[in-house]
Amino acid sequence: MMKKGFEIVKQALAEGRNFLLEHEAKALCEKFGIPVTRFKVAKNEEEAVRYAEEIGFPVVLKIVSPEIIHKSDVGGVVLNIENKEKVRESYRKILENVQKHKPNVKIYGVIVQEMALPSTEVIIGLVKDPQFGPTVMFGLGGIFVEILKDVSFRVCPITETDAREMITEIKGYPVLRGYRNLPPADLDALVKVLLNVSRMAEEYPEISEMDLNPILVYEKGVKVVDARIIISK
Ligand code: ADP
Ligand code: MG
Repeated sequence: MMKKGFEIVKQALAEGRNFLLEHEAKALCEKFGIPVTRFKVAKNEEEAVRYAEEIGFPVVLKIVSPEIIHKSDVGGVVLNIENKEKVRESYRKILENVQKHKPNVKIYGVIVQEMALPSTEVIIGLVKDPQFGPTVMFGLGGIFVEILKDVSFRVCPITETDAREMITEIKGYPVLRGYRNLPPADLDALVKVLLNVSRMAEEYPEISEMDLNPILVYEKGVKVVDARIIISK
């Protein structure tokens, strides 16, 4: 059964969490038309195998725990799983890793999702500026954001013109425009994500921070691979 967006947020707050789990954040993204990797949460190994077959190989498995926000840090992510046997192995390995890094945490299950094809990575975020309120951020993935701080910002609500400027004004923009044998990225699809993140911030004042990171951008379409949403009452 599909939960309404406000129910997802309400339930997380009622559980005393200040963040949405990846599947909750992605479900909320989907409600705003933001494309995400196909996913399903498995509560045991059998379900994980069944969902992997439904989604189609290769798949990715990640820990789902209300006490874990950085999944890789606890060995909670396995990429590129190619068959049923490896789904079982990875499921057990993830639970073992988590038990080792963080003994006795509550575990809801494991999220099974499609393995997205590699492509150019971008980041779209939302921060609450103390003065201007919700603000959308855009940047290229990896070193562009982390080392070069090559990012753009606009205060919400943003217009389509704002969204296009946010993309073209970063220094790394030529990477998205395409060069040599790198095809141009789907800028219209990126504009839509930026606009929808702004809409999401307007509709959900509980969202204090959002990090869609990475988003893979293709010649046609985009796909959110990891989504973190921080909430407060
Ligand atoms: P964390 O909670 O540690 O940030 P992520 O969900 O971001 O975990 O997974 C770690 C990394 O694995 C991502 O940054 C991305 O590079 C890769 N990854 C995660 N999910 C997928 C996927 N569905 N398809 C392809 N790559 C993925
Ligand atoms: Mg991540």
